[in-house]
Amino acid sequence: MNYDAMFQSALDGLHADGSYRYFAELERRAGDFPKAFHHGIGREVTVWCSNDYLGMGQHAEVLAAMHKALAETGAGAGGTRNISGTNHYHVALEKELASLHGKESALLFNSGYLSNWVTLGTIAARLKGCVVLSDASNHASMIEGIRHSRAEKQIFRHNDVEDLERRLKEIPADVPKIIAFESVYSMDGDIAPIEAFCDLADKYGAMTYLDEVHAVGMYGEHGAGIAEKLGLSHRLTVIEGTLGKGYGVVGGYIAASAPLCDFVRSFGSGFIFSTALPPMIAAGALASVRYLKRSQKERDGQQRAVAYMREALDRAGIPHVQNDSHIVPVMVGEADLCRALSDELLTRFGHYLQPINYPTVARGTERLRLTPTPLHTNEDIDEMVVALSTLWQERQLKRSVAA
Ligand SMILES: *Cc1c(COP(=O)(O)O)cnc(C)c1O
Repeated sequence: MNYDAMFQSALDGLHADGSYRYFAELERRAGDFPKAFHHGIGREVTVWCSNDYLGMGQHAEVLAAMHKALAETGAGAGGTRNISGTNHYHVALEKELASLHGKESALLFNSGYLSNWVTLGTIAARLKGCVVLSDASNHASMIEGIRHSRAEKQIFRHNDVEDLERRLKEIPADVPKIIAFESVYSMDGDIAPIEAFCDLADKYGAMTYLDEVHAVGMYGEHGAGIAEKLGLSHRLTVIEGTLGKGYGVVGGYIAASAPLCDFVRSFGSGFIFSTALPPMIAAGALASVRYLKRSQKERDGQQRAVAYMREALDRAGIPHVQNDSHIVPVMVGEADLCRALSDELLTRFGHYLQPINYPTVARGTERLRLTPTPLHTNEDIDEMVVALSTLWQERQLKRSVAA
């Protein structure tokens, strides 16, 4: 048996349909975000597709907390949470996250992916007869968790209140149900009808599971996300978030009732049997959460950069999707073109922007996904839009109305 030939033939398939992934080898420079050194082309670039949405990955308070905790506690946690790995910083962070979302309790995971996978996987598997109603655009981590649970899954149309209700109606009242969805969807930047979904959950006796990964740190008076912004936190059964995007560090969590968190802590294999996050990571995340609870500066700065970028794109006639979030998708609609634009932006103009192709998005909706941060100046944004406009001109691409 030639196993490598089998692997290679699968990879050849990815090359053939243009979905093979190339990684850019970057060296982020703390103190100089959004600039990074790009090893592939050997020069400094401006990064436009980072999920470190607010630049907290270089924030002085976060770095100081991590240096201090590293010196105090050493490199790793030393064990799973159950066997010597629970450090004071983990507990403090869980308390902070529970309070942030107005919940009784919170539970920390090694990533946001794991928090979705373990929580949905564990609850849906262990509540007898549980049905999961899952938004069609949900993230892979939720999809995989639900699949792992082997519970019945119903996929409702994206953000579609009527389709969800039609399905809920048909499930017997005594069957446990989970409505799983996101607040800000990462590729289109659109936002779920959270209140309407909560109303349906009340009406049909379902739990609500909200992934706020692309919102925590960035929305709401304390950065607790869209649910906080809309005054709906108390209506959600579970709020899930990441510490790796807006908070700039790494890790994931859920915030929910004490019994629910204790249930996942006690039955979730992917929580129990894995070494806890290094205490310095928990310390850094704690500093970031606490900082963004009180500082509006980064949220305001992000909104400023996003609004400026949209206006500049409109003036240049570069077609982009309107939404109420910080995600600015520039639609291209063709995988090869999307990659070519990204390559030219990098090599000719020094802008690093990863092309978003199938299977991350549907074919025909390939795009460049811009996430301007508070650290992108108006000059940075102007330069980027000029570069895009030049490419649109050279390739005679379709402009939007304003052009
Ligand atoms: C990135 C992402 C996750 C996973 O979070 P990580 O902390 O990066 O593992 C979960 N849900 C959504 C919607 C995401 O985009």
